[in-house]
Amino acid sequence: MPKLADPSLEIRLRNKQGQTICARCRAVTTCTIMSMFSRDIICMDCEDLERLHPKFKEASLRERAPRPRATATSLASACHTA
Ligand SMILES: [Zn+2]
Repeated sequence: MPKLADPSLEIRLRNKQGQTICARCRAVTTCTIMSMFSRDIICMDCEDLERLHPKFKEASLRERAPRPRATATSLASACHTA
């Protein structure tokens, strides 16, 4: 049974209306994922940009090692059904 990441570790930013905003581009988003490079909660557009980064693969392997990203996957799939 994979252990879920502690939600308190996620630094989710919100605007005055209580909407979740991307920590990187500050766009209002319903779909978020934790950055591979930091603890930022970012939107899917910014995640796409991260994937183009030359160090993305290295960062994702390092991120996966100590703590499974179970919540990232479940959050991403939830977005497409909403
Ligand atoms: Zn963004």
